Parts: sequence; C-alpha cells; structure tokens
Amino acid sequence: MRLLVIEDDATVRESLCRQLKDAGFAIEQAADGKEGLYFALEYPIDLAIVDLGLPEISGLDVIREIRAKGKTYPVLILTARDRWEDKVDGLDAGADDYVVKPFHYEEVSARVNALLRRAGGWASSVLSAGPVKLDIARQELKVNGAKIELTSYEYRIIEHLMMRAGEVISKTELTDRLYDQDFERDSNVIEVFIGRLRKKMDPDNSVKPIETLRGRGYRFALERNQAE
Ligand code: CA
Repeated sequence: MRLLVIEDDATVRESLCRQLKDAGFAIEQAADGKEGLYFALEYPIDLAIVDLGLPEISGLDVIREIRAKGKTYPVLILTARDRWEDKVDGLDAGADDYVVKPFHYEEVSARVNALLRRAGGWASSVLSAGPVKLDIARQELKVNGAKIELTSYEYRIIEHLMMRAGEVISKTELTDRLYDQDFERDSNVIEVFIGRLRKKMDPDNSVKPIETLRGRGYRFALERNQAE
C-alpha cells in the first residue's frame, strides 16, 4: 500500500514516515499543502495522512480539492489541538478519521489499517478467504492454519491483492505499491514475486489463490469468507 504523508513539522513527518516504512508501506511525503496536493492528485495513493495546519495550502483545502477531483481513497487528518471544531471541519471536508497530536505511532498505524481494510470492504483486520487468512495488524499469512513466511515485498503484494480481492490489479499498480517513486522500476519482477507467492501459499496447486489475467494483471480469486 502506498501512503502519502503531508506534514510541515519535519520531526513529526520524518519519524512517522520512517515507522510507516518499517511497517512495510511505500511512502510519499510532502512538507506543505501545495506539494502535498500535487502528490495527492498525480501519484497512485491508497491513503493520505494530512496535517490540518500546513503552509501554502491548508490541510482542509487540500482535502476539499482531493475530493473535488474525485479521489475516494481514505484520508486521516492530524489535528494539532484537541479542538472539536477542527475534527468536524476535517470530516466535513471529506476526511475519514482523525488523530490528535501528539500521537502514539501505534494509534496512527491502527487507524491507517482500519481505514485501508474498510476501503477494501473488509470488516475485520483478519482478511479471510477460503483457506487463506491474512492478519494485516500482525502482517501474518496463514493457509489452512499453517503460517507462511514471506519477504516484505511478497507481503506487500499479497496484502494489496487480498485487500482488493476480486478486482483485477495491473502489474503497474502492483509495482507502484512495492517501491518508492525514485526506485528503478522493473515490472517483470512482479511475475517473479507472484510465482514465489503461489509456490509458498499453494505448493500442490490446489488452492489457486492468485489468478493471472493475460495482459491485464492479477486477481485474488478466492471468495471472501463471512466475518467470524
Ligand atoms: Ca502543522
């Protein structure tokens, strides 16, 4: 998943981005509302974290513009003070949730995961489909109850595919979720990762969790289970 962090306080921004990166997210970051809005509209983003008090363009205006341009991904706002008006204004502008500063990273991380899974139509943080269970809070994949060890790139791919289970995801979209923008792209590498995931998740080729759609991309093919 690719997150955008717009925050002018360098200490807060850098620490938040580092922890989110460590948690396996690809990150774009901006220090003012103008640059942030550019990334928000032009880059492939799955969720934006927006501070309300920003130079150039205010956080509220950034959010209004993101929504006016038809972007529907979740937006989490950071409010500097515990002022209820800020939260109301932010939610009215099109944000989905908020965290009050100073925050614990764990709170941001829990809210980000909750927003992402809800955007994907999942009710619980354990995504469950057929014999496959992906716990996005613990980043743990199980097939038929057995834990599967994954590299962080493999995890990012299965998480993105499962989060959007049933949808066709292009190779380009998957590549975008793997690397930061400045990384040299090679979409062939996705085929390699998908091959490894299939081997690890389905060594005897009986579960068939990932479908290839020639020329279009990949789809997580198993039916979602009812919430347990
Ligand atoms: Ca600020």
